[in-house]
Amino acid sequence: MSRPKIATLWLDGCSGCHMSILDMDQRILELASRADIVYSPLVDTKEFPEGVDVAIVEGAISTDEDVHKIRLVRSRSKFLISLGDCAITGNVPSMRNPFSTQEILERTFVENTTTNPIIPSEDIPKLLDKVVPLHHVVDVDLHLPGCPPPADVIWETVTKLLDGEMPEVTIKTRFGK
Ligand code: SF4
Repeated sequence: MSRPKIATLWLDGCSGCHMSILDMDQRILELASRADIVYSPLVDTKEFPEGVDVAIVEGAISTDEDVHKIRLVRSRSKFLISLGDCAITGNVPSMRNPFSTQEILERTFVENTTTNPIIPSEDIPKLLDKVVPLHHVVDVDLHLPGCPPPADVIWETVTKLLDGEMPEVTIKTRFGK
């Protein structure tokens, strides 16, 4: 029987959610003994493969390239997890939503730079008018909230899925549930 395939993807996020994956520490080795990590910033695979069992996605959708990636991931994955508040709500990246993309580009590349102030136009993804969470573009099977979600929650979620069970996600914060 083939081993389960796990993938992780980093869209418009700060990498903090992937740091939380790394915070599983030695449990990552245990995970690797039960499943293949076939695509991730943590492994050297260039193309998102077919037949992924669990895809774990950090970050919001901010560009046309993000839209293309998440649609590809959805089409090639059986179970898709929105990992963290940026993926679930837009969170930090969506703070630009009250402004137009032109205002954002001018603020970033012209007003806040002293050398060669120019808005790049080639070889970069096109910004969407608004940053949106994953479920605005594709169906999502599970949300794992937190900024970032705790490593223990990621571990319990993934191992339950590997055991063939549907995880129940309850995260206590310092503000209560
Ligand atoms: S949810 Fe928080 S930790 Fe995760 S990518 Fe967004 S800002 Fe970073």
